[in-house]
Amino acid sequence: MKNDLITQALSTATDTREFRVGKGILPQTTEVFKSNFPGCAALVVADETTWRVCGAEVESLLKAGGVECRKPLIFKAEPPPTATYENLCAVQEALEAAGQDTRAVAVGSGTINDLCKCASDHLKRPYMCVATAASVDGYASFGAPITKDGFKKTWPCAAPLAIVADSAILADAPRHLSASGYADLIAKVPSGADWILADAVGADPIRDDVWATTQIPLRGWTDAPAALAAGDGAAMDNLFTGLALTGFAMQTTHTSRPASGAEHLFSHCWEMLEIRCPDGSHPSHGDKVGVGALSTTLLLEKFFSEPFDRNQIDAAVAAYPDFARREAFIRATLPPGRIADEAVEASRAKHLDEAALCERLGVIADRFDELKKRVEAQLIPFAQFREMLKAAGCPVEPAQIGASPHDVLLATYGAQMIRNRYTILDLVYETGRLPAYAAWLVGKL
Ligand SMILES: [Zn+2]
Repeated sequence: MKNDLITQALSTATDTREFRVGKGILPQTTEVFKSNFPGCAALVVADETTWRVCGAEVESLLKAGGVECRKPLIFKAEPPPTATYENLCAVQEALEAAGQDTRAVAVGSGTINDLCKCASDHLKRPYMCVATAASVDGYASFGAPITKDGFKKTWPCAAPLAIVADSAILADAPRHLSASGYADLIAKVPSGADWILADAVGADPIRDDVWATTQIPLRGWTDAPAALAAGDGAAMDNLFTGLALTGFAMQTTHTSRPASGAEHLFSHCWEMLEIRCPDGSHPSHGDKVGVGALSTTLLLEKFFSEPFDRNQIDAAVAAYPDFARREAFIRATLPPGRIADEAVEASRAKHLDEAALCERLGVIADRFDELKKRVEAQLIPFAQFREMLKAAGCPVEPAQIGASPHDVLLATYGAQMIRNRYTILDLVYETGRLPAYAAWLVGKL
């Protein structure tokens, strides 16, 4: 069943050809490398930690299998490498110096993989990845978030040609890494509800094949958070498979829609606000996405607990501002400069004229009961969702990731402004309920 799913997901993925996950499969790295990069040399890229975990072993295995290995590139462990333009250049230069026939083998989790992904793409060379933690859904996605001149931007670049994940290694990774991956994966529950809504208003039709390889198996991948926290191999296998298949779905659709809804927009807002955990550390991607997913679950539940019918359309249209007023509000809400400028452009792109707004609200009013049923069937109820995240070791309160009540309020408004992607936030905004719901949410989390 699992292998069928993987085969199905890979059949439409544009970049990744091979994916292996399982306990004790690290030695298969050699065979995977040789069959995907025949005649090529390998350049192992790691940091001091992942080198110790399995980077050195990967290199020995490759050498023992007759693969020529260039001098490995090993980043310092302290401070841990980040996905900066400087580090990207370091990988690219090492690959260039190693010669045309060299392929990168990224040994690590998010950052090392993103650096190799981007550097390899710049040189038009495929690469492979040996995962050391089930921490993000970005392993198999196209594109890598790289920070240049203080701004993080997702650069489009090809996903790895092959991925090897030994669940015994994943299970040994620090717990907070798999907790972060768990939150990133289970967040696909409310983001699936966002997709149902976007499909209903014609903004983003659901692809049934992608839904089948991501949303249908999602509950099974995420139903054992306590076992995952205890380092259970099967739970780890499921988590990594889910994260990888979400990545393949992004390759298939060439958007991040299968992986990301309003909860990721909350996360982006908190990142822009540069929130810090009580101990001064940066909350991880999954930590922010998890609290964001709790926020959007509450908003989805709240919206569908209060019927919307055609009698409410006139009031909603009257409350919808013209774009000049809208732009002024965005600039008064978000930090000035690039963040506000980009939000104004994203909001302009999705601003509706009166006729379009009336039509959309008519669809919501006419289909309210049907959508309520579908969304409720999709969601994990808030209290249960919170318990599952907690059992996996994820933060569930804004304060745990350093978000004050004001940061929650700001993100609820801001998340709706920064991206032209239809989610529950747009539904709440366009029906005129955002101010009331934002204030309500702060007290509920
Ligand atoms: Zn994510």
